[in-house]
Amino acid sequence: MIYKRSSELFASAQKVIPGGVNSPVRAFKAVGGEPIFIKEAKGAYIYDEDGNELIDYINSWGPLILGHAHKPVIDALVERAKKGTSFGTPTELETKIAELAVKMVPNVDKIRMVNSGTEACMSAVRLARGFSGKEKIIKFSGCYHGHSDSFLIQAGSGAITFGTPNSPGVTEGTAKDTLLATYNNLESVKQLIDANKDEIACLIIEPVPGNMGCIPPNEGFLEGLRELCDANDILLIFDEVMSGFRLAQGGVQERLGVNADIVCFGKVIGGGLPVGAFAARNEIMDYLAPVGPVYQAGTLSGNPLAMAAGMAMLQELNDNPEIYKSIDEKTEYLHKGIEKVLNANDVTYTINRLGSMISVHFSEEPVVNFASAAAAASNGKFNKFFHGLLENGIYIAPSAFETWFISEALSYEDLDKTIAAVEKVAKNL
Ligand SMILES: *Cc1c(COP(=O)(O)O)cnc(C)c1O
Repeated sequence: MIYKRSSELFASAQKVIPGGVNSPVRAFKAVGGEPIFIKEAKGAYIYDEDGNELIDYINSWGPLILGHAHKPVIDALVERAKKGTSFGTPTELETKIAELAVKMVPNVDKIRMVNSGTEACMSAVRLARGFSGKEKIIKFSGCYHGHSDSFLIQAGSGAITFGTPNSPGVTEGTAKDTLLATYNNLESVKQLIDANKDEIACLIIEPVPGNMGCIPPNEGFLEGLRELCDANDILLIFDEVMSGFRLAQGGVQERLGVNADIVCFGKVIGGGLPVGAFAARNEIMDYLAPVGPVYQAGTLSGNPLAMAAGMAMLQELNDNPEIYKSIDEKTEYLHKGIEKVLNANDVTYTINRLGSMISVHFSEEPVVNFASAAAAASNGKFNKFFHGLLENGIYIAPSAFETWFISEALSYEDLDKTIAAVEKVAKNL
């Protein structure tokens, strides 16, 4: 494939944007090579500036669960835009989307909109600290909760990809209040709780992590966390920025039947526009300004364009619950197809999947936490796999620490094309 124009655009971008990108993982540094500049996209396909057509498994890193330029979302946006794009004062639409979100998600009474997943997680933790009067938080190595200071301690995704788990600029004072546990390991959580009795405000977790590849929780792990949190008066925060409205209408809480105290959203809830949100029961949410003492605000929060896109997306998912079964089946089909061609070519691998989240790791060892994900990523095979797929018109995330984001726009023919591309690439792995 030819990437002449992309390459020129990247050169220009690097002169005025650090690294040529507005979010690090886009730069292809982990896999080598240069990023592709996209011109447009429709359904399951994106088209780059050189005219290459690619089947997209990134889908804007998760939001586009129904594919690119989905008509109801675009129509809602266009209609809304004609009437003005921002007022900084309440609109009815904000109540409508809040009503729908609260109806779809179990165990929450109120929701507050923000502009990104980062903001949602940052605000949720502030709320948990304010509500509990305690300062420390527990997070898990390899889980990503956005780029605010308290979370840049062994964060997943881009932060792992770039080997800067502890970013300069995060103070020791901040870092000392973030305690690190091991995913799928209850004992590691118990030890932290015992060593920090009555000091822990909350435990934040990607209940089904997607930022160290997809890692399903072991049986009883989330339930065990719920019990530990209850027994020790710790608020349990589910960061469902990726899994929310993806693994079920009600996210992991619904799918795996474990309740959280605060839930964070992003990605799908914005329908492709910049939206984040956090939700909880009344008692907790009413601790927020202007009713409560915990301050949180945003000039563009609840922005009419963003809410129009989010509302159209949630309505589609609410009105068509069969979508969840359909994308899960597509993901399973892809899983089986990839498994078959990798087996036939004697490639060692582990595939993790839950619902429409899936990741392929080039190691035989089970990938159950950050250490095993990192071990599986250390042999360089993923980079060959990534570039091989790209040459064959398949666009997956340029990092071994990402899930594939399956969209309902993918047809079985697209999945077959993908499996055929994997087969070609597998011969050289
Ligand atoms: C993407 C993501 C975030 C951060 O969201 P942004 O909108 O990029 O700030 C936080 N948590 C999880 C689980 C995510 O996948």
